[in-house]
Amino acid sequence: MSMLGQQITVLGAGVAGLAVARALAMRGAQVTVLEQAEAITDIGAGLQISPNGMAVLQALALGDGVAAQSVRAAAVVLRDGRDGSDVLRMDLARLRPAQGWQFIHRADLIDTLAKGAREVGVDIRLSVKVERIDLSGDHPRAVMADGSIHDAPLMIGADGLHSPMRQALLGRIAPFFTHQIAWRTVIPNDPSDPAVAEVHMGAGRHLVSYPLRGGTLRNIVAVEERRRWVEEGWSLRDDPMDLRVAFEEFSPRVRGWLDRAEDVWLWGLFRHEVSPEWQRVLPKGAVALMGDAAHPTLPFLAQGANMALEDAWVLVRSLAETDTMAAGLAAYQAARRPRCTRIVAAANANARNYHLSGVKRGVAHAALRLSGMVAPGLALKKFDWLYGFDVTA
Ligand SMILES: Cc1cc2nc3c(=O)[nH]c(=O)nc-3n(C[C@H](O)[C@H](O)[C@H](O)COP(=O)(O)OP(=O)(O)OC[C@H]3O[C@@H](n4cnc5c(N)ncnc54)[C@H](O)[C@@H]3O)c2cc1C
Repeated sequence: MSMLGQQITVLGAGVAGLAVARALAMRGAQVTVLEQAEAITDIGAGLQISPNGMAVLQALALGDGVAAQSVRAAAVVLRDGRDGSDVLRMDLARLRPAQGWQFIHRADLIDTLAKGAREVGVDIRLSVKVERIDLSGDHPRAVMADGSIHDAPLMIGADGLHSPMRQALLGRIAPFFTHQIAWRTVIPNDPSDPAVAEVHMGAGRHLVSYPLRGGTLRNIVAVEERRRWVEEGWSLRDDPMDLRVAFEEFSPRVRGWLDRAEDVWLWGLFRHEVSPEWQRVLPKGAVALMGDAAHPTLPFLAQGANMALEDAWVLVRSLAETDTMAAGLAAYQAARRPRCTRIVAAANANARNYHLSGVKRGVAHAALRLSGMVAPGLALKKFDWLYGFDVTA
């Protein structure tokens, strides 16, 4: 299907929406992005972009810009939370050398994607809140909070966890609480610190940390299991002392970081199951779902943004390489749903593995230490299906 001149509307200017907007416009589509926020900014936090996500950024001709703004990771190290000893070290030099694994400030990635989208003519409209999507006519219609209507023959829902597009396709289903909460903070860092993602594992909790922005900052994500989450809002500011208390039994290295935390945000981690339906064709139009709107995941494999980037590439390629919208969208869903379902399940498994306690924890850590000594590349090799897969190839 030729994209030349096609009018396409994307809901949401997050990683998914901005990446798909640029990919579509690069193929000649006329793209409008509708974003509810007043500005494209983001609170301080880091993201890991693994080689499967970097491959898409490179194909979008944004790879060099992202690499220049980010820290290239040397390793991912799993550590015992209490004594800080190494449990397993995954040396990322074992990955294909052309593919970086990068630590980037989320605001920097969003900024690069937004500039990249505007540069190819994408019209990003801010302060536009879509109230609901109407699929009852012959083409999709976005109904705004102020009652106005936006029509488009193809509308893509990249509108996150509370996606109006997902609701239009599947009905109004509230996301469920995963019984995990996450604190996020960024602290000043010593630039000579190694470019390593450290995962400090403890009973019922873990903490991930890595350097950002030339190593001058350190990103911290600290996760704890909780029975309940009562706040209505998605995220809120928290007292740094709550974070320190939750990790007071962790190693001096971790406690030292947390002593420096000032600006702390707390998230209840909610998700939906992977959507059974990613697209629908109407008599004179169609809709598609992508990113967190289609497959919100626990962040324990650092793949939410990476999956969003992969979705963007596959959606646009599927549309470009098939004769009809229906065939393109069906190919997109067929390619993406099984892979995203597998990734979400792997992230859920990490939640269990990181948070073990008692005998199970001792046995699991001993097994990981042994496998690291006997076959140091094995742990990464097991994830070759994930990091080694290049959707742009
Ligand atoms: C603690 C934590 C750590 C993470 N770490 C990583 C990591 O290291 N690597 C990684 O790959 N992923 C990570 N993720 C996941 C990643 O941040 C998300 O999966 C990814 O950003 C999803 O992008 P998205 O564009 O699909 O959704 P979002 O980022 O949620 O964007 C949706 C956009 O749509 C807009 N929108 C929503 N509703 C409307 C509406 N009604 N009208 C108009 N606009 C609307 C929103 O304002 C927003 O801009 C992490 C997540 C968390 C919580």
